[in-house]
Amino acid sequence: MSTPYQRFLTTVDMVSAIANVDSTAIERIKVPERIHTVSIPMQRENGGHEFYTGYRVQHSSVRGPYKGGIRYHPAVTLDEVMALAAWMTIKTAVVDIPLGGAKGGIAVDPHDLSPAEQESLTRSYTERIHRDIGPQVDIPAPDVNTTSRTMDWLADEYGRLTGTTSPAVTTGKSIANGGSQGRDTATAQGGIDVLMAVLNDAGDELSGKRVAIQGFGNAGANAARLVTAAGATVVAASDSTAAIADDRGLPVQRLVHYKAEGGRFEDLDGFSRIMPENVLTYDADILIPAALEGQITAENASQISARYVLELANGPTTPEADTQLHHRGIAILPDVLANAGGVVVSYFEWLQNLSGEHWSREQVNRRLSQVMERAYRDVARREQQLDIGFRLAAYCVALERIAAALPSAEPVLLIES
Ligand code: NAD
Repeated sequence: MSTPYQRFLTTVDMVSAIANVDSTAIERIKVPERIHTVSIPMQRENGGHEFYTGYRVQHSSVRGPYKGGIRYHPAVTLDEVMALAAWMTIKTAVVDIPLGGAKGGIAVDPHDLSPAEQESLTRSYTERIHRDIGPQVDIPAPDVNTTSRTMDWLADEYGRLTGTTSPAVTTGKSIANGGSQGRDTATAQGGIDVLMAVLNDAGDELSGKRVAIQGFGNAGANAARLVTAAGATVVAASDSTAAIADDRGLPVQRLVHYKAEGGRFEDLDGFSRIMPENVLTYDADILIPAALEGQITAENASQISARYVLELANGPTTPEADTQLHHRGIAILPDVLANAGGVVVSYFEWLQNLSGEHWSREQVNRRLSQVMERAYRDVARREQQLDIGFRLAAYCVALERIAAALPSAEPVLLIES
């Protein structure tokens, strides 16, 4: 199977034939601007030392400072981080915020580390990359297995190393340390805004729909809460340990609480179990992949019965599966649009930190919905013109915006009178 970065390149090649973008811009977007690979020393609580490999890939700063999360996962590779960084570049352009794309990661299973060791690892990683990040340079955020606490440590260590107080160096912090209201639910909320808009365009609604969700962390669990509040039923869900299903509807509030307390689905009693891969093909109207990349492939795409796929995860669908699903009339709301709510509210957090303002949760959610609905309209308009599916339409919109911001773009004559 192709790697995540190869899949990014495949999508760019498909779009380059249809987008109104010259080949220089396309070539530029295919290669990350900077790649940092670091060796991170960490002292274990038992006194031993270990070294972990970490990355920070700064893919594009054409439209603004680099922006992107940090992932802690044993399967992290440079190729994966490159793809995640490139998708951030596309995403920030799709939602039209003045930021570029980056991503970071450490190949580690944080569940093997105590909280003190996780803090030590985060501070050590920050020490390794602190010269290359900053409020106007590159602004990290949480991703898989990193949380507001991780970002608080990163901001604190960055401040200590630079002798500054700079909450704007990272987003996704706790509220007490300069985080924004609504950042915790932003990814799911932005996705639901897009889902509602597409359903509305189809003369349909979320109420009464059956939903299957792969992954029950920040993105998946919040999506479960929001779709349930809108009258839909979550019929299948999984985490990394097990998958459960109930056609009458899973008890979402109870599961959210259980996961927040550190519970694992495999330890749940009284639920009917399904094979983890069957969450994707479960009889549902809406499928929400909210775990890792490369889940919907040419092998299982034909068995997907959902009419809508809301990609809260990054890169869950391969280009081959994407084409298959589009030809079957399944609406795929692509990651670069559907999960952009997280980076939009990260942008709001950054603005609040730089201006010393505090916005209420209502203000944040209202502004988030405005940005998401406008982005959806831009993408939907392009999709209608070309009938290429929402992913390629989103890439068209993004690549045209990035190309227009390149220094080589056509000059605009400014004449003073
Ligand atoms: P998280 O660490 O909070 O949760 C990840 C969830 O996925 C956990 O429930 C984990 O058990 C589950 N999982 C892992 N491997 C799995 C597997 N093979 N099968 C089923 N479940 C599995 O992470 P998150 O922040 O919710 O991120 C999930 C996805 O959403 C990632 O692709 C991430 O890049 C993307 N995303 C997150 C944000 C954000 O703001 N958190 C923003 C944009 C995109």
